[in-house]
Amino acid sequence: MVSRVIPVEAFDLVIFGGTGDLARRKILPGLHRRFLAGQMPANARVIGAARAELDDESYREMVRGAIAEFGDPQDQDADGIARFVAQLHYVRVDARGDTGWKQLGRRLRKDVIRAFYFSVGPGLFEDLAARLHSFGIADAASRLVVEKPFGHDLPSARALNEVLARHFRENQIYRIDHYLGKETVQNLMAVRFANILFEPLWNAQYVDHIQITVAETVGVGGRGAYYDRSGAMRDMVQNHLMQLLCLIAMEPPSRFDPDAVRDEKLKVIRALEPVDPHHIVRGQYEADGDAPSFREDVGDPRSLTESFIALRCHVSNWRWAGTPFYLRTGKKLRRRCSEIAVVFKDAPHAIFGQEAGRHCNILSIKLQPDEGMTLDVTIKEPGPGGMRLIDVPLDMTFAEALAKEIDIDDVPDAYERLIMDVMRGNQTLFMRGDEVEAAWAWTDPIIAGWESRGDVPRPYEVGSSGPEDAAMLMHRDGRRWREIR
Ligand code: NAD
Repeated sequence: MVSRVIPVEAFDLVIFGGTGDLARRKILPGLHRRFLAGQMPANARVIGAARAELDDESYREMVRGAIAEFGDPQDQDADGIARFVAQLHYVRVDARGDTGWKQLGRRLRKDVIRAFYFSVGPGLFEDLAARLHSFGIADAASRLVVEKPFGHDLPSARALNEVLARHFRENQIYRIDHYLGKETVQNLMAVRFANILFEPLWNAQYVDHIQITVAETVGVGGRGAYYDRSGAMRDMVQNHLMQLLCLIAMEPPSRFDPDAVRDEKLKVIRALEPVDPHHIVRGQYEADGDAPSFREDVGDPRSLTESFIALRCHVSNWRWAGTPFYLRTGKKLRRRCSEIAVVFKDAPHAIFGQEAGRHCNILSIKLQPDEGMTLDVTIKEPGPGGMRLIDVPLDMTFAEALAKEIDIDDVPDAYERLIMDVMRGNQTLFMRGDEVEAAWAWTDPIIAGWESRGDVPRPYEVGSSGPEDAAMLMHRDGRRWREIR
């Protein structure tokens, strides 16, 4: 195994909301993994800051529990956990009052990177940012990490950006979209921009269409009230699917640096055309035996919020004129599966005749459950049956292709990678404020449109691929969705 882990510099990372669900589920187990991989230096410190009455020792105990519950089974070595938690501390802080702030300030060191992770509801961002400033805890070199949702619409996203901008410059703010931290998503940029093979074909002349699917098997769970105000468009499309679309559609940046990449992504969002209402299908999952329906889950029998959406959109520029992008995401679908498929056009002239069938190349980029890429290539079916053609995937799934090179278990998950990028000061995989605002500027009129028309989402069966109309959206164009598998 080749180790490619480069330790980051010493840091103090304060996690506001350090006792919350996200911290316990993702952030702390992720930091533990980076610690085990040798990336978190011995003099780095993580300081949980939340409302609960805890001290360092009881916080460490809570984190041990989180690692046992949410960490990987192979990372449960007691000695490794003990060494990791020794680097953890806790300060009780009230975001809305003055409790704990002086103690927090005293705990931080002057000569190391300071990062503040806002793992709390956005309603607390303003208070936290203002107190970090007024207690002299954050300075011009500090870094700020903020979670989704970043706003509910354009005005609220603007207001949040303004609140943060009062105390922090844009190059200090790291807005997390954990989809951008996935290995395959970054590999998509490598495949596009480090190979000569794909880029000449990456345009409307050769690409028939693009599909982006993010399918979940879970329902809204305990987040019913939040989700009923949000829906699939705000919760998934405006951020995750839009980011994936940007990486597929963007022009090659002049260099791989944060602003060069984000400038190109922003141009894509600004080039998105408004969506024709006929090209939108929304759905709500039905009850399944004893399992509640979407409306029961959110506690509103008349809810018009969507747990599923499929839409067709267009990027209006020279590269993509006429190539549709189909986006689809939903809850309680057949499988948990996130995939981008670039479907190329048929060969212009079929020399093998009608009986050989019609074939096209498809580059499929899988984000979950198994990250990897496949390229469907058409070849002759082996054997004596004449010139019959079949599509065979060239499999670039990392676990197999790279097994000898790296230990695939050591590939960091999205949160781990992104937190380490914060410590390295690399903003490439984080959303810039203007990107978020542009994404809302495209999303808001679409939502306003269905609200003013009073569109009612179509019911769909749990475990299906969504409402029938979503399949029709494709069929009308002579295309079909890839199977959710
Ligand atoms: P949570 O409710 O589980 O935890 C909230 C945390 O904030 C707790 O530690 C609590 O002590 C702290 N807190 C609340 N009020 C406070 C105050 N006045 N002063 C100081 N601390 C206070 O929330 P969560 O699920 O961990 O989510 C945190 C943020 O991350 C939210 O913005 C959420 O939308 C976002 N997010 C969460 C998930 C997830 O999987 N949980 C995923 C993506 C984004």
